[in-house]
Amino acid sequence: MEKLARKQIQALTPYLSARRIGGSGDVWLNANESPFDNHYKTDFARLNRYSDCQPQALIQAYADYAGVKPDQVLTSRGADESIELLIRTFCEPNQDAILYCPPTYGMYAISAETFGVERKQVPLSADWQLDLTAIEANLELVKLVFVCSPNNPTGNLIRREDIIALLEMTQDRAIVVMDEAYIDFCPEASTVDLLQTYPNLAILRTLSKAFALAGLRCGFTLASPAIINLLLKVIAPYPVPVPVADIALQALSPSGLARTKFQVLDLNANRAYLQVGLQMVPGVEVFEGWGNYLLVKFPDGDALFKAAWEHGIILRNSPIDNAVRISVGNREECEKVVAFVRNYYQ
Ligand SMILES: *Cc1c(COP(=O)(O)O)cnc(C)c1O
Repeated sequence: MEKLARKQIQALTPYLSARRIGGSGDVWLNANESPFDNHYKTDFARLNRYSDCQPQALIQAYADYAGVKPDQVLTSRGADESIELLIRTFCEPNQDAILYCPPTYGMYAISAETFGVERKQVPLSADWQLDLTAIEANLELVKLVFVCSPNNPTGNLIRREDIIALLEMTQDRAIVVMDEAYIDFCPEASTVDLLQTYPNLAILRTLSKAFALAGLRCGFTLASPAIINLLLKVIAPYPVPVPVADIALQALSPSGLARTKFQVLDLNANRAYLQVGLQMVPGVEVFEGWGNYLLVKFPDGDALFKAAWEHGIILRNSPIDNAVRISVGNREECEKVVAFVRNYYQ
């Protein structure tokens, strides 16, 4: 059967999600999931009917949360589906390209590859910021520029003035896609206000991280109505299952938002604990992080990763030499990590 598949798919290495990697620990800090298991009412009727393509109440609730108008919001199966929709909507296969800046989130490249869209990589600078000169030199045939802030896996924010310069540089040429999957941990860093000025800006959001709903598969795209309308041409007819819309609405209700705000404060405090606790260990370098994870450099990252794995602490290795990405869990999990690392280097 393999020979029947498209050549591109035969050659493709699929995204190694945290779930696919496996492991059998009891401390799971490898997928940037929330440790909070919030409960929702699940009382469903009328499942015999198709769902709305874009449930109006859900769109309105997210628009209110994000501070935009409902016609600037699209909902999809996680932010990952939005990445795919943008590529399918704007990139001509075997002709156009996307541009992204490694080290960064892996799905931009994989989604482009599955649709036969070229991938231009302009590495982040040494301080993990945009290399604007190199980006400008590589914009030919580029329709989408993906920028992740806070960046996964490095954790840092991309400078706002550079994002503005990029939006100016790409006006009428390409769309800048700001991946704000972790922005709820530092909402003041959002670029959502720039939507007013730049029609070539699209922003990815998700309920998977701060809202503790990774298993729900619910994400959002914020963009000009023109971009949203194009994406609506491409999206599946019933992308939002009825129970998903219902639970997402509960998460975005005033009490749901208050709970998320509280949990974000809690996780940001745990991140500070993890940061300081690990930084105290000689030879360990913790990079400043703004999401619910930290990138940590160890004297021997691979060995540390394996030892933690065998100890039941599942972390995420990274493409950066000796660096391991650690999700911020509950306080007990963070304490276990700090104790393990301290003990390991003793
Ligand atoms: C987790 C993540 C996503 C995907 O979010 P889903 O809504 O779960 O699909 C997108 N971008 C980045 C940077 C992420 O870390």
